[in-house]
Amino acid sequence: MNVAQAERFAAPCPDGGGAGACQSCREMCSRGYPGRFTPDEASRAIDAGLASRMMLLRYGKTTMLRPAIIGWEGLSMDEGNLARGQCVFLGAAGGCELHAAGPKPLECRVASCSSMRDATVRRADGAYHGAVDAIERAWRGRAGRAVVDRWLREQTS
Ligand code: SF4
Repeated sequence: MNVAQAERFAAPCPDGGGAGACQSCREMCSRGYPGRFTPDEASRAIDAGLASRMMLLRYGKTTMLRPAIIGWEGLSMDEGNLARGQCVFLGAAGGCELHAAGPKPLECRVASCSSMRDATVRRADGAYHGAVDAIERAWRGRAGRAVVDRWLREQTS
């Protein structure tokens, strides 16, 4: 599976995923790791002026950008200082700011609560892991490295 194929498995929250996100979605966004952007999504987020609300995550051979955990805006996290917490894009009303405005990370769209509670749970769960693998491979490619370099330049300029 590649990133384009993973797009087919996006499963929107039945409650909307935005301001009306359900309790399950809100918990995923408030206590874990914010979802993985694809390199293209991260690039569009930088274009939209959101670079300062993102963080860098390094582990294994992968370096990628994600929405930041509150307190980690503009910072780098690696295997030595992994932390969980609330995504900066979880709005006060309990919904994802990026749901309607975009770019909502592909992992967030694939990891919707829908994949946990509807009848296609097993198929969707397999799709979720395939999507994560595809996203991580994309970050290890040339386009991914270019987006990381761009973000790092913006942090120091
Ligand atoms: S980007 Fe949106 S859906 Fe993804 S973790 Fe943040 S608030 Fe949740």
